[in-house]
Amino acid sequence: MQQPVHNSSTWYEATAERGEGWPSLVSALQCDCCVVGGGFAGLTTALELARSGLSVVLLEAGRICWAASGRNGGFVSNGFALNVSSLAGLVGNEQAKALYGLSQLGTEFVREAIAAHEPALKMGDGLRVCVRYSDGGKLRAYGDHLQREFGESIDINETLETRRHLKTDRYFDSLYFPKAFHIHPLRYGLLLARLAEEAGAKIFEYTRAECIERSGSAWSVSCGKGKVSAKHVIVCVSALDRRLHRWSGSAVLPVATHVAVTEPLKQDVIKTFSAVADTRRAGDYYRLIADGRILWGGRITTRLAEPRNLAGLMRGDMAKTFPMLGKAQVDYAWSGKMAYALNKMPLIGKDPDGIWYATGFGGHGLNTTAMAGLLITRAIAEGDDRYRQFDVLAPRWAGGPFGQIGVQASYWWMRAQDWRDERFTRDNLPAS
Ligand SMILES: Cc1cc2nc3c(=O)[nH]c(=O)nc-3n(C[C@H](O)[C@H](O)[C@H](O)COP(=O)(O)OP(=O)(O)OC[C@H]3O[C@@H](n4cnc5c(N)ncnc54)[C@H](O)[C@@H]3O)c2cc1C
Repeated sequence: MQQPVHNSSTWYEATAERGEGWPSLVSALQCDCCVVGGGFAGLTTALELARSGLSVVLLEAGRICWAASGRNGGFVSNGFALNVSSLAGLVGNEQAKALYGLSQLGTEFVREAIAAHEPALKMGDGLRVCVRYSDGGKLRAYGDHLQREFGESIDINETLETRRHLKTDRYFDSLYFPKAFHIHPLRYGLLLARLAEEAGAKIFEYTRAECIERSGSAWSVSCGKGKVSAKHVIVCVSALDRRLHRWSGSAVLPVATHVAVTEPLKQDVIKTFSAVADTRRAGDYYRLIADGRILWGGRITTRLAEPRNLAGLMRGDMAKTFPMLGKAQVDYAWSGKMAYALNKMPLIGKDPDGIWYATGFGGHGLNTTAMAGLLITRAIAEGDDRYRQFDVLAPRWAGGPFGQIGVQASYWWMRAQDWRDERFTRDNLPAS
């Protein structure tokens, strides 16, 4: 089996300049706000807090954005991991609209940060979401609902238009989101870190927060040889540490997904520079990146170890949609871990003791982490209580190992449903 040419790194790491990085914390510091976690959630929060004039210390256990934030698909779009119909079923139509509006704030934050400071980080515009079976117009009806009720801009396309952009008979109708865009996520994360530092935040890498305790009117965060005393602590550690803050940590489960990047290719099947995804419960997502390479993501699993022959698996997935890609060499292949609450919605808020948390962004974290950073900052700096819109989705125990087993079983069930939908509803429209 063909192995990736670059085994242990990501294409993002190979195309970003990390520079010297940041030191570890080996002393005691005092500040207004201690942010734990150097992914997008922690970085946006640290940046916004520092911009509000508060003193900020950010602690990162590894390197800035080494985890999901620096290894994701790079798609930026409105909404959440949970689709709006299910969200409305969970919280009611009006509350769903309010939450969707907040998610748009996150998208706009990313757009503006990039436009103002490093426009080259944007790699393309638009997102096309395709259905892989003839669904009798259900996807078009969903798009119509999203436009009407949630004010989303969408072009609703029928099969022939879909296949003008993507030459495969696996796709039928599609929704095109012109305001979505895609970026280089690692370079974006490093930009956030640089901006946070310029605004006065102190950043520490290889500094794991081990314990958060009350100490008089402040919090004390211990981290190996260092200690931070802060008025506010904001925990943004995804599902990578579920013990540090049990209130939110016990409410999320770690879920892995995978990405591959091909060699530079001459191909004429993906004829769009927009991002692409399909509507399957555990579907593919991909885009053209530099030099004609294809970045292809997919598969969701609670088995966290990287599969052997990941490159081969991903090439197999590409070939199922575009047979001509079955021979493409995969230069990079990697996995990443996301945090999911059982209802697939982010967990944002303050626990009864007063510790802030932002986690559970699932596979839709580019906009929602930014939204969380904005909401928490406005709450701390200005007493704005919009973050309480998320109270209705407060953390609930995700079931520990039983939750993990249940979620894996539900993924298998979803795959079976996807297979059934495609198997029994394909038609004979030609690939155009
Ligand atoms: C392969 C993949 C593809 C994806 N594609 C997309 C996409 O296209 N679009 C999209 O919107 N979303 C996507 N996502 C989801 C998105 O990347 C995440 O939701 C988002 O990055 C989560 O950010 P975060 O800051 O919460 O977590 P992370 O990026 O995981 O960061 C958490 C950080 O906390 C640190 N940490 C943990 N414990 C401690 C501790 N005790 N002390 C100090 N630091 C600690 C970790 O080291 C880590 O750096 C994808 C995710 C993956 C894995």
